[in-house]
Amino acid sequence: MAIRKEVKTLEGIVIRTVDFKDNDQIVELITRKGRFSFLARGTKKVTSKNASSLLMLTKGKYTLFEGIQGGLSLKEATIERTMSANDDIDRIFALNFLGELLRTFTNELTNFQNVYEVLDETLKNINEGFDPLSACLLFFAKILKENGIALDVSKCVRCQGKRNIVGLSYADGGFICKNDIQSESERKSAYELKVIRFAFLAPIEKMGTISFAKKTALSLLREWGDFVEYGFGVKIASLKLLSAF
Ligand SMILES: [Zn+2]
Repeated sequence: MAIRKEVKTLEGIVIRTVDFKDNDQIVELITRKGRFSFLARGTKKVTSKNASSLLMLTKGKYTLFEGIQGGLSLKEATIERTMSANDDIDRIFALNFLGELLRTFTNELTNFQNVYEVLDETLKNINEGFDPLSACLLFFAKILKENGIALDVSKCVRCQGKRNIVGLSYADGGFICKNDIQSESERKSAYELKVIRFAFLAPIEKMGTISFAKKTALSLLREWGDFVEYGFGVKIASLKLLSAF
């Protein structure tokens, strides 16, 4: 007889589920300590009591046991927060986009504490009615920062001066001053510069306080998508959903 040993209860947020066999799923969680995968048996059956705890970006406590071959399986789950899209196109985009960023931009992290806390705050803010597109832009900035590829919004990246910032160079990775601007495509409005600076510098407790103009949030999401695609070879597929806006 197989001996099943209860090993741990993890507080985490679901970032991936993949169907496995007829009724099972492989689930991936992000926690303060890292990413964990486990097998959830029978959770595709309509009678499953654990199914709703495995929906994308659900936060819960997941009690896992170690099977005879060492893999982790779900014993039971307690839901702490669910994310509903409510047919709202901004929220549908946000849930897809945040999930993709989490799967794509946490592969090389060694410390998950900040990303987990920023994610938790982001999802709480969205559930409390904060603008989903602004939440996405803020989270995008934070996860770039955790990966060491934040834009430098503290000074001109060409002369290191702090005055007369008028633009942004994605190629050089940061703000540009009046004297160093090289093309009109680098120019940004004062409002755009303010949004970019806030996104990278706002502390976690300020993340739900200021929402951005929709047009600005959308154009920066697209630009930052291009920045990571052309700068770092990471294509974010869910940004395609923005063409529906
Ligand atoms: Zn300069």
